[in-house]
Amino acid sequence: MRTVRVVGVVLAIAALLFGAACGREGAPGAAPSAQLSYPVAANVQVPGSPTFAKMQQAGRVRMGVKNDQPGLGVQDPTTGQYSGFDIEIGRMVAAGLGFAPDKIDYVVVPSAAREDAISRGDVDYYVGTYTINDNRKQRVGFAGPYFQAGQDLLVRADDTSITGPQTLQNKKVCSVTGSTPIQRVRQQNLTQPQNVVEFQNYSQCVDQLVANQVDAVTTDDAILKGFAAQDPQRLKVVGQVFSQEPYGIGVPRDDIAFRTKVNDLIAQSETDGTWQRIYDATLGRSGSPATPPAVQRY
Ligand code: GLU
Repeated sequence: MRTVRVVGVVLAIAALLFGAACGREGAPGAAPSAQLSYPVAANVQVPGSPTFAKMQQAGRVRMGVKNDQPGLGVQDPTTGQYSGFDIEIGRMVAAGLGFAPDKIDYVVVPSAAREDAISRGDVDYYVGTYTINDNRKQRVGFAGPYFQAGQDLLVRADDTSITGPQTLQNKKVCSVTGSTPIQRVRQQNLTQPQNVVEFQNYSQCVDQLVANQVDAVTTDDAILKGFAAQDPQRLKVVGQVFSQEPYGIGVPRDDIAFRTKVNDLIAQSETDGTWQRIYDATLGRSGSPATPPAVQRY
């Protein structure tokens, strides 16, 4: 009996490892960034921008990113390379500012620490599923939007009980500290307060979901589709979007010249086809077709 149980456990662990290994292969996060490159602008000037002056002085870019969001911002654990839609948007902006890819330092900043990191100057700009909203605009500026996402739910593939936000009562729902989705779960009482589970990163929530510790992970559909694509045997996206999450590039709040320049670069990428190439090579591989939203200057 004991042996049987031990064998069972070993098999289960082997299955888990095998599943994880398979999931990683061909994952959307492993998008062929090598195919994407951007002309590095020469003699760039951004008059009146302290952020740009600082970057020029350093000869480098400090770019705030996520590293565990498949298709969007992922760091390959073996090569250390970053890839994904957000990463490429950030590289495109760096090139437009005159900085080649090897001049970028990636600074991983979780959702809850973004406003601090930007306002303290720890990063020059931030590209990581960062929803533009008035509350955040009190502390940071936003260029964009460069993508339109919406809040959705990730559940276990065999779950038929969760079909949308109104079906979450008595379910354990996981999301990330300092994110708009967790705020919405609480404000709209989508489940009881004691059923809301909070982590620093979405990958931690997904681990909890797979381990049956929570029943749903909630955040932007773009993020959830990436996780589901990595592990379609065990995970699925519900597909009932219940918010609008326009993604912006976070910049220092009072550096209007810098924000304008980044807006110009985003707008240009949207008209010259660069945006579409980036999307198709990254997020588009696990999601649906998309077109860029219009840049909103405020
Ligand atoms: N877009 C949402 C937000 O900015 C959720 C994704 C995230 O936490 O980065 O809060």
